[in-house]
Amino acid sequence: MCFVDSHIHLSDSAYDEYLMLMIGIINNLKIRVYSVSEDLESSVKNLNIKKKYFVNSESFKAFVGIHPQHASAKLLESFNDFFLRNTESVDGIGEIGLDPTYTTNNDPNTIESQRTVFSQMLSIAEKNNKPVSIHSRRSLNEVLDILPSYRLKRVVFHWYDGNKSFLKKINEFGYYVSFGPYLLYSEDKKTLLTKSDLSLLLLETDGPVSYRHCFNNSLTSPVFIISLLNFVSTVLKKNFNDVSEKIFRNSVDFLNTR
Ligand SMILES: [Zn+2]
Repeated sequence: MCFVDSHIHLSDSAYDEYLMLMIGIINNLKIRVYSVSEDLESSVKNLNIKKKYFVNSESFKAFVGIHPQHASAKLLESFNDFFLRNTESVDGIGEIGLDPTYTTNNDPNTIESQRTVFSQMLSIAEKNNKPVSIHSRRSLNEVLDILPSYRLKRVVFHWYDGNKSFLKKINEFGYYVSFGPYLLYSEDKKTLLTKSDLSLLLLETDGPVSYRHCFNNSLTSPVFIISLLNFVSTVLKKNFNDVSEKIFRNSVDFLNTR
């Protein structure tokens, strides 16, 4: 049995002193990780982790990209150069998206600069046939408007927290949704889970985000995925192994070139 944490930030400095512990968890418990980035620096670091500790291993997939929080058109040229030099080692593009929350008192981050960066990231993904991991807080409408103009099928709405009708639209487009540990304490999210297309469902921890209402604020690790799977199988009234296997397959499909 193999598990997947489809969205975690292992290049975040919060993991620096725990990196070997995380690598031990990944290897010993057979939990694959899709490690996402937020800017050029974390993208470089993420690829370096993959190259240093996961040579000939399928367990660490490196996503690179510029998060809306760090959206600046100035970064694009150097990001492009970096991407071109590493195209083959990059497994996906993320975490990318739009989020008006980050434009408040955060010059020069504007929704326009976020749009410029987001569309550039989507173009890179389209051109190089890479999957994308999307941040869509307070921007679901716009993101869902933009996406169909790109030839992208392998798209995941990470930390999904929209409503049921959006969820339906997302699944109708064939896009994935990913839920995190908030499923364990949010009734709303539990309902969303039951409405999701099981073939387009992924799970994530979004570490180093920590969870006060479950896991007691402890350091978020890929091992949380197993508790999450246990919970999901209970809510969906399905066998743990079947659900784990299904979600593992989904993660492989999401990642692989079609
Ligand atoms: Zn994230």
